[in-house]
Amino acid sequence: MNRRLEQLVQRAQQLYDDLGLDAVRAWKDATGGKAVGHLPIYVPRELIHAAGMLPVGIVGGGDRLEIIRGDAYFQSYICHIPRSTIELALSGRLDALDGMLFPSICDVIRNLSGMWTMLFPERYVRYVDVPQNYDPRVGGAYWRRELEQLRDDLERLGGRPVGDDALRRSIAVYNENRRAIRELYRARSLRPWVYPTSELHLMMRAGNLLPPEDHTALLRDYLAEAPLEEDRREQDRSRVVLVGMFCEQPPLGLLLTLERAGCWVVDDDLLLGLRWILDDIPTAGDPLENLVQAFLEQSTPTASRYEPDGKRGAWLLESVRRNHAEGVIFSAPSFCDPALLEQPMLVAALEREHVPHTEFKYSEDTGQFAVIREQAGTFSDSIRLWSEA
Ligand code: SF4
Repeated sequence: MNRRLEQLVQRAQQLYDDLGLDAVRAWKDATGGKAVGHLPIYVPRELIHAAGMLPVGIVGGGDRLEIIRGDAYFQSYICHIPRSTIELALSGRLDALDGMLFPSICDVIRNLSGMWTMLFPERYVRYVDVPQNYDPRVGGAYWRRELEQLRDDLERLGGRPVGDDALRRSIAVYNENRRAIRELYRARSLRPWVYPTSELHLMMRAGNLLPPEDHTALLRDYLAEAPLEEDRREQDRSRVVLVGMFCEQPPLGLLLTLERAGCWVVDDDLLLGLRWILDDIPTAGDPLENLVQAFLEQSTPTASRYEPDGKRGAWLLESVRRNHAEGVIFSAPSFCDPALLEQPMLVAALEREHVPHTEFKYSEDTGQFAVIREQAGTFSDSIRLWSEA
């Protein structure tokens, strides 16, 4: 690996391993600012940034954290991310956060928000109840009120007003970041051997801890450096779309396993919150209203978002078509209600179009990949055999 690319990957790996938020502490020491954490998937990070604070994405402890106290807070038959997030907090690893936002993705996150309020009464906590009605007069008006209240809260926490001009500047900063992410996803779809998903995921994860300006610079450097790596040559593998990973993230080893099993991932729903808004948000006019309109009209389709009847699965078929995918792998966290309840509808949509698919479950701390490797390898082989036939 060339030296510059190696440095970029090492930097992203350091941030991936930074469960104690050392990078956030360093940012706070350097700027004197505050930091606000948020759970997956969508919160309006622009508002936090405009308040002069650092938005910090929290996605649990992955496979690098021993759960000692976190298990006592939850029953065994739910996903893993809430127990590792509680573990991170109880062990002091999240002490750098001055506040925490819990977006309304599912009941587990809702309950976690209540626990936080009881466990850390001195810290700012807000449950961000995103609308499921996309009519501007109903869901739009509601979301506007929520954003106004969130802005008021952040002004109190940050000790300064969040003016329209500051919010416009933050929207522009995040437009740049989303543009770089879209470029990276397009580049990976065209040449997945140049931008392997296990590496792309590290680059994306850095966006949870870095200020958006620094994350955009990291992505642009990576986009430029990865193609210079001479060893990265096209190989005969199956092109697949990964679905179900929008909240609890899989261990990196699982993504590596899929690649070693003969799959090129050409699209995925990992870390969806960083690319929830699909296009640029206008910076002219009322910036709060622009955030509202972006949410109503430019949100990415996913399991936790309301879709009118008959449209479930349309986005997945479009992703398969746009990325020239040959199959779909449903890979969801165990006990993830949003992902697993949506799966039959997505499967039905794929079967109507004869798109091959397979499914397995994981936990963020899954450590054994032999079965997944066999299953993904068999799936990849069968796709290639069918396409030759
Ligand atoms: S992994 Fe699924 S069930 Fe668990 S918190 Fe996330 S969305 Fe909810």
